[in-house]
Amino acid sequence: MYDVKSLKAEEFINDEEILETLKYADENKSNRELIEEILEKAKPKKTGRGVECAGLSHREASVLLACDIPEMTEKIYSLAREIKEAFYGDRIVMFAPLYLSNYCVNKCVYCPYHMQNKEIPRKKLTQEEVKAEVIALQDMGHKRLAIEAGEDPVNNPIEYILECINTIYSIKHKNGAIRRVNVNIAATTVENYKKLHDAGIGTYILFQETYHKESYETLHPAGPKHNYAYHTEAMDRAMEGGIDDVGLGVLFGLDKYRYEFAGLLMHAEHLEAVHGVGPHTISVPRLKRASDIDPNQFDNGIDDDIFAKIIACIRIAVPYTGMIISTRESEECRNKVLGLGVSQISGGSRTSVGGYAGYSADERPHDTEQFDVSDQRSLDEVVKWLMEGGYIPSFCTACYREGRTGDRFMALCKVGQIQNCCHPNALMTLQEFLTDYASPETKKIGEELIAREILNVPDEKRRQRAVEYLNEIKHGGKRDFRF
Ligand code: SAM
Repeated sequence: MYDVKSLKAEEFINDEEILETLKYADENKSNRELIEEILEKAKPKKTGRGVECAGLSHREASVLLACDIPEMTEKIYSLAREIKEAFYGDRIVMFAPLYLSNYCVNKCVYCPYHMQNKEIPRKKLTQEEVKAEVIALQDMGHKRLAIEAGEDPVNNPIEYILECINTIYSIKHKNGAIRRVNVNIAATTVENYKKLHDAGIGTYILFQETYHKESYETLHPAGPKHNYAYHTEAMDRAMEGGIDDVGLGVLFGLDKYRYEFAGLLMHAEHLEAVHGVGPHTISVPRLKRASDIDPNQFDNGIDDDIFAKIIACIRIAVPYTGMIISTRESEECRNKVLGLGVSQISGGSRTSVGGYAGYSADERPHDTEQFDVSDQRSLDEVVKWLMEGGYIPSFCTACYREGRTGDRFMALCKVGQIQNCCHPNALMTLQEFLTDYASPETKKIGEELIAREILNVPDEKRRQRAVEYLNEIKHGGKRDFRF
């Protein structure tokens, strides 16, 4: 039976409840009155504490996703834009993945790291190689990484991951620093989550891949990842281990997208109900071609329009949750979805183990690559492109370093302090990028943008301090200011 507060996977992600939700959504997909009502509920509203959004239940959001009235679909997009604007403004946070090891004991049928794939050489970075990769990433201008590894208790035990995190944080090359390390590794024990927490990780990210239990078991035929309950309950263990920023995700293309969407929101509702805080981020990866993997083997692929609608509906349903897209997506697709609610994107990414150090911007090693990267532009090019599109690329990591994780981050959103906090932080970290790493053209566009945007910090004192800090970065050689 469905129970949002249960700690059992099959009760908080309940198949029956999802099927009923899909039926309800189908019955109401042309119900204009209900759709209007749902949109009204989700609108940002001014309260005594600032602007707040109520969000939506998985049932309500599923009606929006199923909605087949073109005019209403337009309203869904415009509400998603309004919510994005209210909480995230034009800021887009930048990050890069760092692949540590492709050794893996699982047999995920969609992933090239599966243990039977003999086409790819297996590789695990030494600490010296981690250092070289981090220096290369710092030299591009990155401050935030997501580390990635296959699951292999012998080759990549938790001690190896912890050692890598330690190495990453310790490297200070020129003005560079990695200030937040997010971690995307297989489901593990409470004890290991405690260790990750103590190592100072940012978000613990784990994609569910699919919420459909039967498909999950078929897609993960062997290895520790085969266990649906252990995987699905991982975020509860992570939170028990003290990590209060967790990142959910579905690998779209594996099962039916409407089923996944309902499951994803039920998972978010579960975390909120049990731990008092929803997911910090939601990722929306789509299945890609890779070594030994042909995405056409899977018949649930979604086109760019459905992808955009999913993103818009997630934005409306969980308004305070960050949303991430990676370089799996092309420039064109990224352009389309940025305005609908995406708040974080990767730039200059390499998905191979050891893909950064020793390679020029247009040289890419393919042998250990996890999947094809669609957006192959450099970080500088992505930053410039974002600014030309009216966005503010941000390298900010302040919340986590000021202890504003979990519900404390959500509180900042709710009291409307974003414009006095996130906005200047974004501009100051962008200035660091421009001063230390940008091409002359990117720098010129960026400095004009900062001069304009700094005027939009409402609090006068805060604005003046931010202007002083910007000068210190540009002319005084100082770094790492934050509010
Ligand atoms: N090994 C960890 C685990 O099992 O959760 C996480 C690391 S894995 C490198 C990161 C993610 O890549 C997976 O969770 C999966 O969603 C995604 N992935 C795997 N194969 C893919 C493919 N062919 N196309 C796109 N994404 C893929």
